[in-house]
Amino acid sequence: MSPPLYETIIQAIQKVIGPTEQFTPLHEPHFGGNEWAYVKECIDTGWVSSVGPFVDKFEAELAKVCCVNHAICVVNGTAALHVALLLAGVRSQEEVLIPALTFIATANAVSYLHATPHLIDSSKETLGVDPIKLDEYLDKIAELRADGCYNTQTGKRIAAIVPMHVFGHSVDMVTLNKVMEKWQIPVVEDAAESLGSTLNGKPLGSFGKLAALSFNGNKIMTTGGGGAILTNDPKLGKLAKHLTTTAKVPHPWAFEHDQVAFNYRMPNINAALGYAQLEQLPGFLKKKRALAKAYAKVFEHVDNLNFVREPEKCISNYWLNALLLDETIAEQRDQLLEQTNAQNIMTRPVWNLMNSLPMFKDTPQMDLSVALSLEKRLINIPSSVMLGAAYDT
Ligand SMILES: *Cc1c(COP(=O)(O)O)cnc(C)c1O
Repeated sequence: MSPPLYETIIQAIQKVIGPTEQFTPLHEPHFGGNEWAYVKECIDTGWVSSVGPFVDKFEAELAKVCCVNHAICVVNGTAALHVALLLAGVRSQEEVLIPALTFIATANAVSYLHATPHLIDSSKETLGVDPIKLDEYLDKIAELRADGCYNTQTGKRIAAIVPMHVFGHSVDMVTLNKVMEKWQIPVVEDAAESLGSTLNGKPLGSFGKLAALSFNGNKIMTTGGGGAILTNDPKLGKLAKHLTTTAKVPHPWAFEHDQVAFNYRMPNINAALGYAQLEQLPGFLKKKRALAKAYAKVFEHVDNLNFVREPEKCISNYWLNALLLDETIAEQRDQLLEQTNAQNIMTRPVWNLMNSLPMFKDTPQMDLSVALSLEKRLINIPSSVMLGAAYDT
């Protein structure tokens, strides 16, 4: 008789990450570079707050890494999404297409603008929005007018779409961009989980009109808390900086502000941490991919589940590694979560679909059958950078 599935899973994970007498978190930050030196420099010089040389250096380097013309640092990824959507043209009473399978921040950012999230189904291959299914859906419910795409059922303009690259794996951005061009819907990438991932060799975050990154403590690199807005458009880049810095008009001493705006500036001390982390990103990516490869190997011959691999033409940062249970054993998920956590191996389910939350239960939505199926079957497993060190040769 074969051992129960939870034992097989625990053994496979232990084979990769070693013994688990101690608790292994899902994703812990790693500080192995110039973090101390740069943060100390902020304290020694007094430049700890909302302006300083590390903000400029971090923004310049981020833009380079992401292959965009402008990167604007902000206090967190949610704030980045908020301002990116505003700059994409989203206004009150409009709709924004977002995946049902995403972290709450995507939907919250839409709501901050008094716009409505309109939920889209996922692709089995990428876990992100399915552009073909979306196109077929828009054929049924949408029409093009002089000022853009309208939902004929609600009468509201569909002002933007936010594809989210789940766990670092790329949405099919080539097809999505084509479909969205046809429907004249601006694309704002939620690249919070996918810094360092590429599709066709091009960094995620560089495919849309704008994108948002997050540097929260659990992401591939961290500034403590933080985020960034990315864009190639110089006008939007300038506006992003202006709107996130209280719309203050430059002046040697006067308090001139030309509109209501936000205090979303990233402090210099956080940017210093970020700059040191970004220097290590290539090494982090190597270790994370090595870890994913090790997991893929041990789970290759485990029945009733699959290790989630990067989609075709995507080189993923493998931010969070994931197992996808077969439909036939989906009802075992919670038990597997219990048993792995009891063995000091932190595992988590994926987010509840947005339409299962009270705020969004009646929000417009298409058929979400794929997202529903994925939601009940995904399990994240330990993915910290340093777990991959042993495999990074
Ligand atoms: C982490 C994350 C964000 C932003 O989170 P913050 O904590 O505000 O930095 C946004 N969207 C997704 C999908 C995320 O995973």
